[in-house]
Amino acid sequence: MPVSRFQIDFINKKAKRGYQWGGKNDSFLLPIRNLEETEKVRYTTETFNHFLKLRKYYTDTDKLKLEGRKFCNKWGRFRYPENTPDELKIMGSVHFIESFIFDLSSTKIPSLNQIASEELNLKESGAPTWNFNDVMGTLSISFDWDEEGKKIIPTYHPLNLWEAIKLQLLLTGSDAHDDMIECLHYSTFGMKIGCLQYTKGRSDKKFCSDACRTAYSEKKRKSN
Ligand SMILES: [Zn+2]
Repeated sequence: MPVSRFQIDFINKKAKRGYQWGGKNDSFLLPIRNLEETEKVRYTTETFNHFLKLRKYYTDTDKLKLEGRKFCNKWGRFRYPENTPDELKIMGSVHFIESFIFDLSSTKIPSLNQIASEELNLKESGAPTWNFNDVMGTLSISFDWDEEGKKIIPTYHPLNLWEAIKLQLLLTGSDAHDDMIECLHYSTFGMKIGCLQYTKGRSDKKFCSDACRTAYSEKKRKSN
């Protein structure tokens, strides 16, 4: 049968200096120093893989809040619906992904009741099937150049970050490569201008850049 390449085109906005928990029940992510969310950040497969990593903290609310905040520092908030606490949005979506992947891997019928009014049906072969519209709503698709500028391919335009993640999960599955390394300066001292927060490389790599390595040893030396 025909197979198609596709891409997901979404740009989120985030606060330049990141977020802190606050507001009612400490459950909203508020931009540090009340900076407006003006910095643009493009959705990539790295965003998706980072979000899948939050599954690890599924049963530990404090850890999930810490790591969820870090996720939003890097990729921005889910934003929609704006009046729902960020904590609930993060918990709800991690819960959805966790149970979806668990159900798929244990060949149960994945339950979509969190996001779709209709649950999945089974085909005659026993494989799950769903009505796309129940899960995703209306989707805007155009034909755009791929990242290398070589080919024009179907391009989906989600309305928000959660829709982008959900779409990628439903269309590509969850085979994430867990090769993300958190910059040690970031995990120790928090956001810093120029720090990428996460990096890739050999498993013993500790910093996103030489600048972070230098700043880290500088701060460690001063605190000793
Ligand atoms: Zn760094």
